[in-house]
Amino acid sequence: MIYTEGELIVCQNCKTELDNIRKENLLTKDELVLLKHPERIMQVNFPIKKDDGSLEIITGFRVQYSFILGPGKGGIRFHQSVDVDEVSELAFGMTLKTSLVDLPFGGAKGGVRINPENYSQKELEKIARGYVREIFDIVGPHKDIPAPDVNTNPQIMAWMLDEYEKIAGQPSPAFITGKPVEQGGSEGRDKSTAMGGFYILEEEYKDKEKSEITVAVQGFGNAGSVMAELLFDAGYRVVAVSDSSGGLYDAEGLDIPELIKYVHGQEKTKKLITYDKYRRINNEELLSLDVDLLIPAALGGVITLKNAPAVQAKMILELANGPIMPVAEPILVDKGIKIIPGILANSGGVIVSYFEWKQNLSGEHWSLEEVNSKLKEKIVGAYRQVKELAEKEGLTYRRASYKIAIKRIIKKAKEKKII
Ligand code: GLU
Repeated sequence: MIYTEGELIVCQNCKTELDNIRKENLLTKDELVLLKHPERIMQVNFPIKKDDGSLEIITGFRVQYSFILGPGKGGIRFHQSVDVDEVSELAFGMTLKTSLVDLPFGGAKGGVRINPENYSQKELEKIARGYVREIFDIVGPHKDIPAPDVNTNPQIMAWMLDEYEKIAGQPSPAFITGKPVEQGGSEGRDKSTAMGGFYILEEEYKDKEKSEITVAVQGFGNAGSVMAELLFDAGYRVVAVSDSSGGLYDAEGLDIPELIKYVHGQEKTKKLITYDKYRRINNEELLSLDVDLLIPAALGGVITLKNAPAVQAKMILELANGPIMPVAEPILVDKGIKIIPGILANSGGVIVSYFEWKQNLSGEHWSLEEVNSKLKEKIVGAYRQVKELAEKEGLTYRRASYKIAIKRIIKKAKEKKII
């Protein structure tokens, strides 16, 4: 966290992006001031008793960047790199994302600074519950609704919901989304991030022969492996995938269902690098492959000033949040690479979260077909709007997405007489 000229800046990347937008005259000075700061930042430090009997203090954050469009919305990640800057940047991204796809939510994000691999299930449950106890006052079905993000899953959401309901003293399934279906979760939420991105690709490539489209997917977790499978099933040629251990490559295309069975079908998740039927490549090689489509689906900041010049993909779909560093983007744009930004490409997750929240509040349960058809309509609608604006005004998809999102927020702020 830094102070510049008396101004508190918790998120340098948000500020840089907003300053760029301001330079293009898309924002007045007051509007810029309004969006530059998160509305609320909470840091919590709480103890848990570890399995060996020792006590550890766990640090977490919840940043509620904006409530202009409605209650806060955004996931909670468990990761060792979590800090207030990262969570603020992600909360800023959620603010733009919910606006772009026209959901009645503001933007928020949570994070707990741990490496989950170092904790047992019992300890993770204590961490999930402890975190909810600490943030209880500022979250709720009409205040701020969390969800899964990096390294969190339906089981963790179930623990968090249980803890929330214990304190609230009443059933409150709409407090959190991404729950197991048995606990009020929505059909299709587990695959919704990848599914949304896939619908965009189907629209983008609707006139193309799929077997001629080569794809590299970075990240083989919930988003990446599901996306790889959807593409494989639809006939695309997925030539490379990777996880934190490294990647695999085959010019003829990889057998994705086989790899999913190998990595996720075991009692303990396996690493791709131990699979021995394909050529091994490292993550940097994967990012620089000469493919039609590159899908970063893991963490943020993987395409940097240093490796951007080597990227050869024709198009990049950001399934992760913020995989392209803002400073690296101009290099890619100059090379003519089309970029579908994360706030559009990965919005399927929060769209189905919204459906889940709606079902919880109304006591309904929608079928998978209904969820997916509504998701498709919403995300393809947003994609077409972005495409149209980008083509009309000669903007990148990212700029066009920001423009639409910010316009909606400012309009609402004016209606509410906030500015
Ligand atoms: N963590 C996901 C995201 O970054 C989903 C958020 C949500 O469903 O609220 O969009």
